[in-house]
Amino acid sequence: MNRFEDKVVLITGAASGLGQASALQVAKEGAKLSLVDLNQEGLEETRKKVLLEAPEAEILMIAADVSKEEDVKNYVEQTIQKFSRIDGFFNNAGIEGKQNLTEDFGSAEFNKVIGINLNGVFYGMQYVLRIMKKQGYGSIVNTASVGGIRGVGNQSGYAASKHGVVGLTRNSAIEYGQYGVSVKAIAPGAIMTPMVEGSLKQMGGDNWEEVGKEFVEPNPMKRFGKPEEVGYLVAFLLSDQANFINAAVIPIDGGQSYKY
Ligand code: NAD
Repeated sequence: MNRFEDKVVLITGAASGLGQASALQVAKEGAKLSLVDLNQEGLEETRKKVLLEAPEAEILMIAADVSKEEDVKNYVEQTIQKFSRIDGFFNNAGIEGKQNLTEDFGSAEFNKVIGINLNGVFYGMQYVLRIMKKQGYGSIVNTASVGGIRGVGNQSGYAASKHGVVGLTRNSAIEYGQYGVSVKAIAPGAIMTPMVEGSLKQMGGDNWEEVGKEFVEPNPMKRFGKPEEVGYLVAFLLSDQANFINAAVIPIDGGQSYKY
Protein backbone atom coordinates (compact mmCIF):
# COMPACT_ATOMS: atom_id res chain seq x y z
CA MET A 1 0.00 0.00 0.00
CA ASN A 2 1.13 3.54 -0.71
CA ARG A 3 -1.51 5.51 1.10
CA PHE A 4 0.83 8.41 1.91
CA GLU A 5 2.41 9.14 -1.45
CA ASP A 6 2.86 12.95 -1.71
CA LYS A 7 1.41 13.34 1.79
CA VAL A 8 3.01 15.19 4.69
CA VAL A 9 2.63 13.71 8.15
CA LEU A 10 3.56 15.62 11.30
CA ILE A 11 4.20 13.54 14.44
CA THR A 12 4.94 14.68 18.00
CA GLY A 13 6.61 12.34 20.46
CA ALA A 14 8.34 10.89 17.40
CA ALA A 15 11.57 9.95 19.19
CA SER A 16 10.15 6.86 20.87
CA GLY A 17 7.35 4.36 21.31
CA LEU A 18 4.07 4.98 19.51
CA GLY A 19 5.29 8.08 17.66
CA GLN A 20 8.32 6.27 16.30
CA ALA A 21 6.31 3.18 15.27
CA SER A 22 3.76 5.37 13.47
CA ALA A 23 6.50 7.33 11.70
CA LEU A 24 7.94 4.06 10.40
CA GLN A 25 4.58 2.85 9.13
CA VAL A 26 3.56 6.01 7.26
CA ALA A 27 7.08 6.47 5.84
CA LYS A 28 6.99 2.91 4.45
CA GLU A 29 3.85 4.02 2.61
CA GLY A 30 5.45 7.09 1.09
CA ALA A 31 4.90 9.91 3.63
CA LYS A 32 7.12 12.93 3.99
CA LEU A 33 7.77 13.32 7.70
CA SER A 34 8.00 16.19 10.12
CA LEU A 35 9.17 14.67 13.41
CA VAL A 36 8.92 16.58 16.69
CA ASP A 37 10.26 15.70 20.12
CA LEU A 38 12.17 17.05 23.12
CA ASN A 39 14.66 14.24 22.74
CA GLN A 40 16.99 14.98 19.81
CA GLU A 41 18.99 11.75 20.12
CA GLY A 42 15.77 9.79 19.95
CA LEU A 43 14.72 11.73 16.85
CA GLU A 44 18.01 10.79 15.21
CA GLU A 45 17.34 7.14 16.09
CA THR A 46 13.89 7.37 14.49
CA ARG A 47 15.40 8.97 11.38
CA LYS A 48 17.89 6.10 11.02
CA LYS A 49 15.17 3.47 11.46
CA VAL A 50 12.92 5.21 8.93
CA LEU A 51 15.71 5.43 6.34
CA LEU A 52 16.38 1.69 6.67
CA GLU A 53 12.76 0.98 5.73
CA ALA A 54 12.15 3.93 3.41
CA PRO A 55 15.50 5.19 2.01
CA GLU A 56 13.80 7.88 -0.10
CA ALA A 57 11.87 9.42 2.79
CA GLU A 58 12.13 13.19 3.24
CA ILE A 59 12.48 13.91 6.95
CA LEU A 60 12.42 17.15 8.91
CA MET A 61 13.35 16.87 12.60
CA ILE A 62 12.37 19.59 15.06
CA ALA A 63 13.32 19.80 18.73
CA ALA A 64 10.38 21.25 20.65
CA ASP A 65 8.64 21.14 24.00
CA VAL A 66 4.94 20.70 23.22
CA SER A 67 3.97 22.32 26.51
CA LYS A 68 5.36 25.64 25.21
CA GLU A 69 3.05 27.40 22.80
CA GLU A 70 5.92 29.20 21.02
CA ASP A 71 7.61 25.84 20.32
CA VAL A 72 4.39 24.45 18.90
CA LYS A 73 3.81 27.49 16.68
CA ASN A 74 7.40 27.09 15.49
CA TYR A 75 7.19 23.37 14.67
CA VAL A 76 4.06 23.99 12.61
CA GLU A 77 5.68 26.95 10.79
CA GLN A 78 8.84 24.97 10.06
CA THR A 79 6.79 22.10 8.67
CA ILE A 80 4.90 24.46 6.36
CA GLN A 81 8.12 26.21 5.26
CA LYS A 82 9.61 22.87 4.22
CA PHE A 83 6.62 20.95 2.90
CA SER A 84 3.90 23.63 2.26
CA ARG A 85 1.12 21.47 3.73
CA ILE A 86 0.15 19.08 6.52
CA ASP A 87 -2.07 16.16 5.53
CA GLY A 88 -1.88 14.09 8.70
CA PHE A 89 -1.09 15.12 12.27
CA PHE A 90 -0.37 12.53 14.99
CA ASN A 91 -0.65 14.72 18.11
CA ASN A 92 0.92 12.21 20.42
CA ALA A 93 3.67 13.45 22.77
CA GLY A 94 2.86 12.71 26.39
CA ILE A 95 4.08 11.54 29.76
CA GLU A 96 2.52 9.43 32.48
CA GLY A 97 3.74 11.44 35.48
CA LYS A 98 4.30 10.05 38.96
CA GLN A 99 1.79 7.57 40.35
CA ASN A 100 0.19 8.63 43.60
CA LEU A 101 -3.08 8.93 45.48
CA THR A 102 -5.03 12.09 44.69
CA GLU A 103 -4.31 13.60 48.13
CA ASP A 104 -0.57 13.11 47.61
CA PHE A 105 -0.43 13.81 43.87
CA GLY A 106 0.77 17.39 44.25
CA SER A 107 -0.24 20.41 42.21
CA ALA A 108 3.21 20.82 40.60
CA GLU A 109 3.08 17.29 39.19
CA PHE A 110 -0.56 17.77 38.17
CA ASN A 111 0.24 20.99 36.29
CA LYS A 112 3.27 19.41 34.61
CA VAL A 113 1.28 16.47 33.23
CA ILE A 114 -1.59 18.73 32.12
CA GLY A 115 0.91 21.12 30.50
CA ILE A 116 2.32 18.42 28.23
CA ASN A 117 -0.58 16.03 27.67
CA LEU A 118 -3.49 18.48 27.44
CA ASN A 119 -2.13 21.96 26.70
CA GLY A 120 0.36 20.45 24.24
CA VAL A 121 -2.42 18.69 22.35
CA PHE A 122 -4.57 21.85 22.32
CA TYR A 123 -1.71 24.05 21.03
CA GLY A 124 -1.00 21.54 18.26
CA MET A 125 -4.64 21.42 17.16
CA GLN A 126 -4.96 25.19 17.28
CA TYR A 127 -2.15 25.76 14.76
CA VAL A 128 -2.65 22.69 12.58
CA LEU A 129 -6.43 23.06 12.23
CA ARG A 130 -5.98 26.55 10.72
CA ILE A 131 -3.85 25.02 8.00
CA MET A 132 -6.06 22.01 7.37
CA LYS A 133 -9.15 24.23 7.19
CA LYS A 134 -7.47 26.31 4.45
CA GLN A 135 -6.42 23.12 2.63
CA GLY A 136 -10.00 21.79 2.94
CA TYR A 137 -8.37 18.52 3.86
CA GLY A 138 -6.61 16.71 6.70
CA SER A 139 -6.74 14.17 9.47
CA ILE A 140 -5.74 14.60 13.10
CA VAL A 141 -5.20 11.68 15.46
CA ASN A 142 -4.80 12.65 19.11
CA THR A 143 -3.34 10.19 21.59
CA ALA A 144 -5.72 9.74 24.52
CA SER A 145 -5.55 6.53 26.56
CA VAL A 146 -7.72 3.96 28.28
CA GLY A 147 -6.98 6.34 31.18
CA GLY A 148 -8.98 8.92 29.19
CA ILE A 149 -12.14 6.80 29.00
CA ARG A 150 -11.98 4.77 32.25
CA GLY A 151 -10.79 5.25 35.83
CA VAL A 152 -7.37 3.69 36.43
CA GLY A 153 -6.29 5.08 39.80
CA ASN A 154 -3.14 6.82 41.08
CA GLN A 155 -3.01 8.98 37.98
CA SER A 156 -4.83 12.25 38.67
CA GLY A 157 -2.84 14.28 36.15
CA TYR A 158 -2.85 11.60 33.49
CA ALA A 159 -6.58 10.87 33.88
CA ALA A 160 -7.55 14.54 33.77
CA SER A 161 -5.31 15.25 30.78
CA LYS A 162 -6.40 12.23 28.74
CA HIS A 163 -10.12 12.75 29.47
CA GLY A 164 -9.42 16.31 28.33
CA VAL A 165 -7.89 15.05 25.08
CA VAL A 166 -11.10 13.09 24.42
CA GLY A 167 -13.12 16.27 24.99
CA LEU A 168 -10.91 18.36 22.71
CA THR A 169 -11.15 15.68 20.02
CA ARG A 170 -14.93 15.53 20.03
CA ASN A 171 -15.32 19.30 20.19
CA SER A 172 -12.99 20.07 17.26
CA ALA A 173 -14.33 17.15 15.22
CA ILE A 174 -17.78 18.74 15.31
CA GLU A 175 -16.37 22.13 14.29
CA TYR A 176 -14.08 21.04 11.43
CA GLY A 177 -15.85 18.12 9.75
CA GLN A 178 -17.52 20.60 7.37
CA TYR A 179 -14.07 21.60 6.03
CA GLY A 180 -13.10 18.05 5.09
CA VAL A 181 -10.98 17.69 8.22
CA SER A 182 -11.50 14.75 10.57
CA VAL A 183 -10.34 14.61 14.18
CA LYS A 184 -10.17 11.38 16.11
CA ALA A 185 -8.39 9.91 19.11
CA ILE A 186 -6.87 6.58 19.98
CA ALA A 187 -7.17 5.11 23.46
CA PRO A 188 -4.31 2.64 23.87
CA GLY A 189 -4.18 0.22 26.76
CA ALA A 190 -0.78 -0.96 27.94
CA ILE A 191 1.56 -1.00 24.93
CA MET A 192 5.15 -2.00 25.66
CA THR A 193 7.07 1.24 25.15
CA PRO A 194 9.65 3.05 27.33
CA MET A 195 6.73 4.88 29.01
CA VAL A 196 5.11 1.63 30.17
CA GLU A 197 8.47 0.21 31.21
CA GLY A 198 8.91 3.31 33.39
CA SER A 199 5.44 2.83 34.81
CA LEU A 200 6.15 -0.82 35.71
CA LYS A 201 9.40 0.28 37.36
CA GLN A 202 7.43 2.76 39.47
CA MET A 203 5.27 -0.18 40.63
CA GLY A 204 7.84 -2.97 40.91
CA GLY A 205 11.38 -1.52 40.91
CA ASP A 206 13.91 -4.18 39.83
CA ASN A 207 11.08 -6.72 39.85
CA TRP A 208 9.27 -4.84 37.07
CA GLU A 209 9.16 -7.70 34.56
CA GLU A 210 7.32 -9.92 37.07
CA VAL A 211 4.99 -7.03 37.82
CA GLY A 212 4.39 -6.73 34.08
CA LYS A 213 3.28 -10.37 33.86
CA GLU A 214 0.77 -9.82 36.68
CA PHE A 215 -0.29 -6.55 35.10
CA VAL A 216 -1.45 -8.18 31.85
CA GLU A 217 -3.17 -11.11 33.57
CA PRO A 218 -6.62 -9.36 33.61
CA ASN A 219 -6.28 -8.46 29.91
CA PRO A 220 -8.49 -10.68 27.70
CA MET A 221 -5.47 -11.21 25.44
CA LYS A 222 -3.02 -11.65 28.35
CA ARG A 223 -0.29 -9.56 26.80
CA PHE A 224 0.97 -6.05 26.21
CA GLY A 225 0.25 -4.39 22.90
CA LYS A 226 3.08 -3.78 20.48
CA PRO A 227 4.00 -0.29 19.25
CA GLU A 228 3.72 -1.43 15.62
CA GLU A 229 0.10 -2.49 16.23
CA VAL A 230 -0.62 1.11 17.17
CA GLY A 231 1.38 2.24 14.12
CA TYR A 232 -0.98 0.28 11.83
CA LEU A 233 -4.04 1.86 13.44
CA VAL A 234 -2.62 5.38 13.30
CA ALA A 235 -1.63 4.99 9.65
CA PHE A 236 -5.16 3.86 8.79
CA LEU A 237 -6.73 6.72 10.74
CA LEU A 238 -4.47 9.29 9.07
CA SER A 239 -5.17 7.92 5.59
CA ASP A 240 -7.98 8.82 3.17
CA GLN A 241 -9.59 5.48 3.99
CA ALA A 242 -10.62 6.84 7.39
CA ASN A 243 -11.85 10.29 6.32
CA PHE A 244 -15.45 9.59 7.46
CA ILE A 245 -14.29 8.47 10.91
CA ASN A 246 -14.70 11.70 12.85
CA ALA A 247 -14.94 12.40 16.61
CA ALA A 248 -14.41 8.71 17.33
CA VAL A 249 -12.21 7.53 20.21
CA ILE A 250 -10.83 4.13 19.30
CA PRO A 251 -9.55 1.79 22.00
CA ILE A 252 -6.60 -0.45 21.19
CA ASP A 253 -6.27 -2.48 24.35
CA GLY A 254 -7.00 -6.18 23.74
CA GLY A 255 -10.58 -5.54 24.88
CA GLN A 256 -9.68 -4.70 28.46
CA SER A 257 -11.65 -1.46 28.69
CA TYR A 258 -14.89 -3.34 27.87
CA LYS A 259 -14.40 -5.98 30.57
CA TYR A 260 -16.67 -5.99 33.58
P1 NAD B 1 7.36 7.13 25.09
O1 NAD B 1 7.86 7.65 26.39
O2 NAD B 1 8.01 5.96 24.46
O3 NAD B 1 7.30 8.30 24.00
C1 NAD B 1 6.82 9.59 24.31
C2 NAD B 1 7.66 10.60 23.57
O4 NAD B 1 7.14 11.91 23.88
C3 NAD B 1 9.13 10.59 24.00
O5 NAD B 1 9.97 10.53 22.86
C4 NAD B 1 9.30 11.90 24.74
O6 NAD B 1 10.60 12.47 24.61
C5 NAD B 1 8.24 12.77 24.09
N1 NAD B 1 7.87 13.89 24.94
C6 NAD B 1 7.57 13.85 26.26
N2 NAD B 1 7.32 15.10 26.70
C7 NAD B 1 7.47 15.92 25.64
C8 NAD B 1 7.36 17.32 25.47
N3 NAD B 1 7.05 18.14 26.50
N4 NAD B 1 7.57 17.85 24.25
C9 NAD B 1 7.91 17.05 23.21
N5 NAD B 1 8.04 15.71 23.31
C10 NAD B 1 7.82 15.17 24.52
O7 NAD B 1 5.82 6.82 25.36
P2 NAD B 1 4.70 6.19 24.44
O8 NAD B 1 4.18 5.02 25.16
O9 NAD B 1 5.12 6.10 23.03
O10 NAD B 1 3.61 7.34 24.59
C11 NAD B 1 3.13 8.12 23.49
C12 NAD B 1 1.75 8.62 23.83
O11 NAD B 1 0.90 7.50 24.01
C13 NAD B 1 1.65 9.42 25.12
O12 NAD B 1 0.74 10.49 24.94
C14 NAD B 1 1.10 8.42 26.11
O13 NAD B 1 0.40 9.02 27.15
C15 NAD B 1 0.18 7.63 25.21
N6 NAD B 1 -0.20 6.31 25.69
C16 NAD B 1 0.72 5.32 25.79
C17 NAD B 1 0.31 4.08 26.25
C18 NAD B 1 1.26 2.93 26.37
O14 NAD B 1 0.85 1.91 26.93
N7 NAD B 1 2.46 3.00 25.90
C19 NAD B 1 -1.02 3.86 26.61
C20 NAD B 1 -1.92 4.90 26.49
C21 NAD B 1 -1.50 6.12 26.01
